[in-house]
Amino acid sequence: MSPPSLIQASAPSTQSAPIALSYELFPPRNAAAEAGLWDTIRELETTNPDYVSVTYGASGSNRDTAVDLLNRLLTETSLRPLAHLTCVGNTADELAEIISELLDHGVRGILALRGDLPKEGPGEPRQGQLHYAQDLIELVRRVEQRRSALLCAGKVAIGVAAYPARHPESPSIEHDVEVLLAKQRSGADFAITQVFFHADQYRDLVARARRAGVSIPIIPGVMPLTSLRRVQRLGDLTGVEPSQSLLDALGRADDAAESRRVGVAATVDLARAALDAGAPGIHLYTFNEHAAALEVLDKLELLRPGRPPVGSRTSGSTLQPA
Ligand code: FAD
Repeated sequence: MSPPSLIQASAPSTQSAPIALSYELFPPRNAAAEAGLWDTIRELETTNPDYVSVTYGASGSNRDTAVDLLNRLLTETSLRPLAHLTCVGNTADELAEIISELLDHGVRGILALRGDLPKEGPGEPRQGQLHYAQDLIELVRRVEQRRSALLCAGKVAIGVAAYPARHPESPSIEHDVEVLLAKQRSGADFAITQVFFHADQYRDLVARARRAGVSIPIIPGVMPLTSLRRVQRLGDLTGVEPSQSLLDALGRADDAAESRRVGVAATVDLARAALDAGAPGIHLYTFNEHAAALEVLDKLELLRPGRPPVGSRTSGSTLQPA
């Protein structure tokens, strides 16, 4: 008889991790947008996401509004923010300062990005500037190390971008996976994907990444695409070719309600296919609007852990649809 093992061969299904849920928000550009954003934040908060990410302009163009929003999320809501940070156009010293500021505010998750290159070209190179997201990951880890006592020796969670469709500047999808592996080696904990329109692209990325040695979670980023104009603009901004069938279906829609029905249905299908392919979570790009995101979430019926009410002394969590 073999000795008893302390490790169960297969964990009971109740112990498998629930699907992670997160949203992307962007800092408001004016007071009216800010009021709308806070309605959205309050609505999203009711769904108990694992975190909400806050975008950051390339070269820190919206640094103050981003830090302000992160700070308010930390102090006025129950939400855990993930701060996007871009390194393009900034030096290591400038970035170390903003990383320290974020940590001082209580941020414990950073999405380390390069940011898009300026359309007018890269400009004069500056001494000490960072070139790639990988450099930023290493910098975050250095700042973290300097502050390990303040962090109670804890870690900052570092996320990175991954690309189901080739990054527009990349020579190949193989190169994209090499870059993802390099980001993992430099200290990335998880990846969130760029938008994609075909579930096969996500499935292939994960398969290629795993073969290359990438073991971090790769969370699909999905966006409710509820208008033809938005899909076209998104294609321009990201360089990702929109799906022709979605363009056609949105083009045939008679009014905004039909367009929204089509867009939500397509997003639900895409997210379901990614989950069927083993995605560990769903990251919803919200455009700072909650209605379509919540509709997608309702239809997905994700099993999510319920949080005990504030002040409750029971710690057991139950799984329930979000
Ligand atoms: P990198 O990983 O540095 O890659 C950039 C390019 O350089 C790629 O073509 C890559 O193949 C190449 N490369 C990387 N490392 C090397 C190397 N060592 N040697 C040779 N080539 C290399 N942009 C914003 O401005 N603000 C945001 O808040 C923001 N949020 C985003 C969130 C998500 C989930 C995603 C997917 C993208 C986001 N972006 C954002 C867009 C992102 O900044 C752009 O896609 C940008 O062009 C690349 O960023 P990256 O972090 O992937 O860069």
